[in-house]
Amino acid sequence: MVKSIVLGTGRSGLAVAGFLLDQGHTVMVSDRSSESDVKASAQWPEFEALQRQYGEKLEWALGGHPPEILQGCDQLVISPGVPIHAPFIQEALQRGVKVTGEMELAFVRSPKPVIAVTGTNGKSTTCSVLGEMLDEQGIVGGNIGTPLLHQVQHLSPQVEWVVAEVSSFQLATVHTFRPRIGILTNISPDHLDHHKTLEEYRSAKSRMFAQMDENDTAIFCWDDQQAREMMEEALSGTLPEWFDGFPKPARKGTPKIRCYSVEEKVENGVSFTIDENACRWVTRYVEGVAEKLFPWDFDSLPGKAMMSNGLAAITAALEIGLPLEKIQSGLRRFHPLHYRMELAGVVDGISYVNDSKATNIESALASVRAVEGELAVIVGGKDKGVDYSSLARGLKNS
Ligand code: ADP
Repeated sequence: MVKSIVLGTGRSGLAVAGFLLDQGHTVMVSDRSSESDVKASAQWPEFEALQRQYGEKLEWALGGHPPEILQGCDQLVISPGVPIHAPFIQEALQRGVKVTGEMELAFVRSPKPVIAVTGTNGKSTTCSVLGEMLDEQGIVGGNIGTPLLHQVQHLSPQVEWVVAEVSSFQLATVHTFRPRIGILTNISPDHLDHHKTLEEYRSAKSRMFAQMDENDTAIFCWDDQQAREMMEEALSGTLPEWFDGFPKPARKGTPKIRCYSVEEKVENGVSFTIDENACRWVTRYVEGVAEKLFPWDFDSLPGKAMMSNGLAAITAALEIGLPLEKIQSGLRRFHPLHYRMELAGVVDGISYVNDSKATNIESALASVRAVEGELAVIVGGKDKGVDYSSLARGLKNS
């Protein structure tokens, strides 16, 4: 019988434990939190229900992860917040235990192809716009909302596509993950408290494209230098090395490459053209030949950053053959997500904007640049190990 350890008692850990028990595994759930804290958590009643259903097939190690529990363990499933450099993970890798995560399990289990979106910024917006375009033909999950593993087990019959928001943490533990369409919005320094270096962060992101072949499409934001570099690497098959201890899979082929740009024309993909009436048109390029598709008049995606996310979604939608009417009605239906450039209120003629989801330098600056007129900015938050002087300079120059 397969013995799996699930690290973390959050929503993702719960989804994984239930799934593996259902598959006949013996599961040990381990968490650094104390027994009393775990029992006070929102997930506890559902864990209790699993315990009633599966009895001694579900075991516990709370208040830490003692290395002895790795004895006889075949697979360790870690929640996205657990750094792969943690001593327990390294110990597991040394013992030859397969270290994986919920995203990998969801991908393997999904009966429908996956459109995956990664990048430092713009993931949730891009996924949500795509979700609106696909309507009942798609579901959106992953790093946004309900665990994807739970969702893919309960797809309704109309669903044709699974849209997954994928973080670098989740990509760090995938093995066979191979989205039919993969979008990289951008890469800038972030989460360097978790990933040791920017190179390791890039390496995690690159896993999105590592298993793709000519039946798959890799989509990159042309306006982002790092995304362009990764496009070159996907084309030439020179993607960054896998992390220590994680086996690198053999390259299968070269995916189709598409780009999108708010700034300039692209070779294959989507951009804007401006007509003689100064109207901005969404334009598709196929081998450099332009085809004007429809005017851009979508107020819920203001500023270059949000437009860029809209173009990312359009590029993917065109790639899967979604009709232009569905693409446009999805863009029209989309409402800005909470805490992303959200208008909190207007007092004495001053608009207060809640952009608390701008959790790194690039996103904060992108939002500031999207605002016209006089601006006062309130910043704060958790130190993620990056150099903040560029934020200060950027804010000063905006
Ligand atoms: P993510 O899911 O990657 O965190 P979101 O779509 O939730 O991205 O947006 C979070 C914040 O990032 C937004 O409030 C905005 O400030 C900024 N942002 C969104 N899209 C982009 C982009 N394409 N480039 C730079 N910043 C962006």
